[in-house]
Amino acid sequence: MYVKLSIDDLREKYQREREKRLRTDGVGQYKELTGEYAAFNRDPYVEPGFTRDALTKETEVVIVGGGFAGMLVAINLSKRGIRDFTMVEKAGDFGGTWYWNRYPGCMCDVESYTYLPLLEETGYMPTERYASASEIFEYCQLLGRHFDLYPNALFQTEIKDTAWDESTQRWNVTTSRGDKLASRFLVTAGGILHKAKLPGIPGIETFKGKAFHTSRWDYDYTGGSPREPMVNLRDKRVGIIGTGATAVQAVPQLAKTAKELLVFQRTPSAVGVRNNAPTDVEWFTSQPPGWQAERIVNFTHAVTGVQPEQDLVKDGWTEVMWVNTQGTTDDPAELEALERSDFETMETLRRRVEEVIDDPATADKLKAWYGKNCKRVCFHDEYLPAFNLPNVQLVDTDGHGVERITETGVVVNGVEHPVDLLIFASGFEVTTDLDHRLGFDPQGRNGMHLSGRWADGAHTLHGILSGEFPNLMMISLVQGGFGTNFLHFLSESAKHVAWLIDTCEQESIASIEATPAAEEEWLGVLYGAAAGAAGYSTTCTPGYYNSEQNFDAKAARNLVYAGSLLDYSQYLVTWREQGDFTGAKVVKQTPPA
Ligand code: NDP
Repeated sequence: MYVKLSIDDLREKYQREREKRLRTDGVGQYKELTGEYAAFNRDPYVEPGFTRDALTKETEVVIVGGGFAGMLVAINLSKRGIRDFTMVEKAGDFGGTWYWNRYPGCMCDVESYTYLPLLEETGYMPTERYASASEIFEYCQLLGRHFDLYPNALFQTEIKDTAWDESTQRWNVTTSRGDKLASRFLVTAGGILHKAKLPGIPGIETFKGKAFHTSRWDYDYTGGSPREPMVNLRDKRVGIIGTGATAVQAVPQLAKTAKELLVFQRTPSAVGVRNNAPTDVEWFTSQPPGWQAERIVNFTHAVTGVQPEQDLVKDGWTEVMWVNTQGTTDDPAELEALERSDFETMETLRRRVEEVIDDPATADKLKAWYGKNCKRVCFHDEYLPAFNLPNVQLVDTDGHGVERITETGVVVNGVEHPVDLLIFASGFEVTTDLDHRLGFDPQGRNGMHLSGRWADGAHTLHGILSGEFPNLMMISLVQGGFGTNFLHFLSESAKHVAWLIDTCEQESIASIEATPAAEEEWLGVLYGAAAGAAGYSTTCTPGYYNSEQNFDAKAARNLVYAGSLLDYSQYLVTWREQGDFTGAKVVKQTPPA
């Protein structure tokens, strides 16, 4: 029987759960997949030993990244007739996050009809309402073929250095394969979830069993594939650390074949109903022209609390996010109503746990005690039921995290749990410095590094242009937009970047960058949009949404546009329509003598 708590009790409960999780090391608690952990970063999906000749060439645009962001920039440039671009991608193919994440059960939690871009142009019909990662990866390959991007891509290649040369007005780009590229424009589309991290748990380096991160799944060890059961786990004790969106999808698949599965939990995810289903072919094929753009906007409205007249998508996301509980208001009555609405949504999700889980003690541990905007809400129909299976055990750490890792297992509350395989579902770097996540530190005018210019945090116009870095265009969360449907943000940003490049070419502009005044003005816009979210965030448990709750001066500048993505997009549209590059320093090409 579900016990309903009073508002005061809920506030106190949230506070208690939050305090258990606060730590002084913030993002420093995690380890990079470099040095002694470099083996965790190996690409398991390519044949080893790939070589090719180094290239030396001039190219109009270098695009860093072959995920959706980089592909959409390339596609938008192609549509504008600009084909002289070179894409540099460390993976063995297009796809970005959908290349790396092949863990079992991986799928997109946003409806495929709004998530997958350009469905009307490619004529592709997703097979299911929520597409699997394999299908999305194949769709990325389809986009690559459809828009003829493969000839322009350098795979298994990482950027080493990028430096602006004022005398030639070019970016000089070098790569891990010895390439020397000179380009007018440099677009960084490095993704937000591509740099995997490990938890810095004491003893992690001593583990002698098999271990990997979810974004580097070793099917040679587990057997099976994203679409087939992992038969080699039938005699294995498997441990998985982390219970975020990734683990929620992987756990039910692991539970199917592992002899024993131990799920090590620090903070539970809130998990709503999914209701996936095959695509209704009749519905899909009867959509009128322009349906996808309308659906994308409708969804973003619905999940940012704008409440469109008709909820076209009508799924777990729009239900949970229908009211924007981070709203900007000073009115105490309104604030309390929003808080109440948030509590009610989370109570529904907590009640679901009790309905599904047989053992009351396990159910209690799987309830999420924080607001709905604190962590990404998950939607899954098999995650919670997995804990009713005899081979699955929840090892809850009461908010403190795993205590220690030994040669043979995982220690929680002084008890060692031996495991043969240890899987790290420990997420990705999101709020570390941009140059760190990119893996190189662009050198702008006069040898100035991005890390130097941004030593006190980011300086940008729209998150895209930055002063002292001519013709550098960035697509990232840093001072940029954000949305539940991340593809919506990437599509808008890619359109803007392609417009910038095309317009510079058409108007004989040699270089463009943000002015310091415009950067500060944009920061003011970001602060204005963050007003409601900042107060809300202080009630949250730590996580990557709030930079692990460590707010220093730098983090205060590295914020994301916290208002609606549609408002962010409108800033870009209005700016383009003004057509005078407000806030940008523009240098025209010198006409030939
Ligand atoms: P997350 O960062 O969301 O989760 C990491 C998990 O590891 C958390 O549960 C965290 O606990 C736990 N953890 C970290 N350190 C320890 C420790 N020392 N002991 C025990 N547990 C620990 O990463 P995910 O890979 O799950 O997801 C990242 C993001 O990727 C998602 O939020 C989402 O945006 C995206 N994603 C999207 C999907 C989609 O369908 N579109 C699917 C999967 C992922 P704690 O919460 O306490 O920090």
